[in-house]
Amino acid sequence: MADPQEELEAALVDVDDVRMLDVDESVDPMALLAYYRRLLPFRSLYTWLNQDVAPTRNFVNREFAFTLQNDVYLRYQSFQTWDEWKKEVCRLNPSRFEIGPVYSLKPKDRKTLQRATFKPVARELVFDIDMTDYDEIRTCCSGKDICARCWQFIAVAVEVLDAVLREDFGLSHLLWVYSGRRGIHCWVSDADACALTDEARRALVGWTEIIKGGQNQVKKVDLGGGSRALHPSIRRALGANILQSSAGAPAPQTTAPLQRAFINTVLRDQDCFREETHYETLLALLPQDESVNRLRSRWAAPRSSVAKWDDVLDTARKSSDRARPSWIAALEDIVIQYTYPRIDSEVSRRQNHLLKSPFVVHPATGRVCVPLEVDQVHTFDPHTGAPTVAQLLRELTRYEAEHGSQEPDAERRAEWDRTSLKPFVEQLDRLSQRLLRDARDAKRAAARHSLDF
Ligand SMILES: [Zn+2]
Repeated sequence: MADPQEELEAALVDVDDVRMLDVDESVDPMALLAYYRRLLPFRSLYTWLNQDVAPTRNFVNREFAFTLQNDVYLRYQSFQTWDEWKKEVCRLNPSRFEIGPVYSLKPKDRKTLQRATFKPVARELVFDIDMTDYDEIRTCCSGKDICARCWQFIAVAVEVLDAVLREDFGLSHLLWVYSGRRGIHCWVSDADACALTDEARRALVGWTEIIKGGQNQVKKVDLGGGSRALHPSIRRALGANILQSSAGAPAPQTTAPLQRAFINTVLRDQDCFREETHYETLLALLPQDESVNRLRSRWAAPRSSVAKWDDVLDTARKSSDRARPSWIAALEDIVIQYTYPRIDSEVSRRQNHLLKSPFVVHPATGRVCVPLEVDQVHTFDPHTGAPTVAQLLRELTRYEAEHGSQEPDAERRAEWDRTSLKPFVEQLDRLSQRLLRDARDAKRAAARHSLDF
């Protein structure tokens, strides 16, 4: 008979312990192998990378890199078919793998080729947004931790960058992928984006880098002083009439993403200006006249960030006509500094930067790096939104218990559709279908064009 005390203790295992157990089970090499064999959607990834049904240069000349269980790093792997790719992944059972550029020749043959002719020729445009870059502003977590609250900084960054890429650069084939712990990647597969040279990538990324300077730099946004005209893209994200948006009003009166995030996340939820070191940063970013000292003495007593921001708005509204444009510019720069996307630009600058593949497993969390739709990002919870490997394998076991054991060809058949991975794979497949259709239309247009001559 079981000891009641032991039973009680077993029942009292806290949520963190359960989570750690799930991580251990998820990154266990045998579990990982089962995930590669039965669940990871190699075929869907192939179609997305290849942008065609039959293998093209986009796939066969593509570099893959594997990190093995013993941390050995294998670069310049390449494959003829998705089947061959899957077989090699199952043979090596890497802890993760990355996707690199399309080269002029097959990467695996590079040693037998003349080095001069081996060079990257195409690559999705990629972006990386990571919580690390928000450590100085978030108040709920620090270090490697993340929660649904600080995830909101990532969510607004995705919303804004997505609009920049679609509306300012005319791109449409975007895949947002949760990085498995505390960040998100964006892969842009439009033909124009894949063809961008390193120089063009640097220029494009530079355009999105509005927040500049490290920890020791207080003012990180400077878009010009007093009477300035903001670029339409920044104005669209920021919204207008900053002096009218009271933070204390029951509901934010603006739909523009940055002001909305500033009120909801920075002021109301994170209370970013409660501590003295943080509100001193805010004071340092205001036009330096005597009103700053009045605010400082008022804030010596505890006061919420919402109330402090309303004090700032009030001060700006009462400023002289001559000083007001500088106040408006300063306030707009503050909102942008606390909410505009902070991009790890190193990732985006070069064609040959390797980036973790969608659907691999994060070694510290056991979570699958799943695609996310832009409108799902705000409600996504990084602790529960992406399935773990252990969870998916349990779902497969449950499916078999209900529907009988595996079919004879289970070796080849993907089984993700029997698990909670299904909607994520289907999302990738929908994007691939749009890509294929565009590629077909472009081919037809080119053929018509040549007939016309
Ligand atoms: Zn947090």
